[in-house]
Amino acid sequence: MNATFPDQARKAPVDAADAKAPLKLLIAAPRGFCAGVDRAIEIVERAITRYGAPVYVRHEIVHNRFVVDGLKAKGAIFVEELDEVPDGAPVVFSAHGVPKVIPAEANSRGLDWLDATCPLVSKVHRQAERQVEAGRHILFIGHHGHPEVIGTMGQVPDGAITLVETVEDVARLEFPDELPLSFLTQTTLSVDDTAEIVTALRARFPRIVGPRAEDICYATSNRQAAVKAIADACDLILVIGAPNSSNSLRLAEVAERQGTRAFLIQRASEIDPAWLDGVTTLGLTAGASAPEILVREVVDLLSTWRTVTEETVKVRDEENMVFKLPRQLAS
Ligand code: SF4
Repeated sequence: MNATFPDQARKAPVDAADAKAPLKLLIAAPRGFCAGVDRAIEIVERAITRYGAPVYVRHEIVHNRFVVDGLKAKGAIFVEELDEVPDGAPVVFSAHGVPKVIPAEANSRGLDWLDATCPLVSKVHRQAERQVEAGRHILFIGHHGHPEVIGTMGQVPDGAITLVETVEDVARLEFPDELPLSFLTQTTLSVDDTAEIVTALRARFPRIVGPRAEDICYATSNRQAAVKAIADACDLILVIGAPNSSNSLRLAEVAERQGTRAFLIQRASEIDPAWLDGVTTLGLTAGASAPEILVREVVDLLSTWRTVTEETVKVRDEENMVFKLPRQLAS
């Protein structure tokens, strides 16, 4: 795919004659923050109020630099490992979830910890435990190295779960016929790719057990559906999201699959005006960890270059999911 992550200063539009040419913006809905991201940010903010700064956060609370910088300014300190957290300091685990060894280590050090794991990720954790209790080996569909994958695979003993990333991986799997199998999925995958992998798994292992619907979350599938709905009408799609944000990367892929050029950008300043050459209809969306303010920033910048008209293309009713806060912060 062509999705890129440019790191360049904003330049003036190349062709001054096009500077105020019309540009139709199709803005996908739903887009941007999901309930799990809202909750994770609120947990850090409330923890700072409850405990006072600094509050440590293990890993980026959500994959968005703007969000992380905002929380740093309020008193959060982001670290990658627990041994970077001083004794006695409170620590929050990120929305992506953590392997079981992490809370165990925090307990052994007597740390006050809060879990900002998205409840939809926690649900997959519990399913993984249940599958192992039922004596099944788990085939986990996900992306190697993503923190959610590390967290989910770390819910069960070593050797009880195998990562599957592609249809080709399925062809390479070798298990004895008598071994009971199940599959689970990361929450932020491509809906279409995952369906293909699940089909391949069911064809190769007809007795495999899986969830009724794969565990791709509502926010991921809604944002992909919204991009699909606008892609054919767009000359270019901009996806606001971080290069390490799985659901944002998938949005750019969905557009590209439909034959529409797509760029993943973190901020408006990354837009190269040359991308707009010949573009009359531009699609805009944002991953689940990108705040709406960044969408407005992009619209505002585009409006300085072109005469912009905005249309929101909505494929789902308002998302009104709200997740409860951890008990320690609920009051
Ligand atoms: Fe939860 Fe989905 Fe949002 Fe991830 S993208 S935090 S799984 S709702």
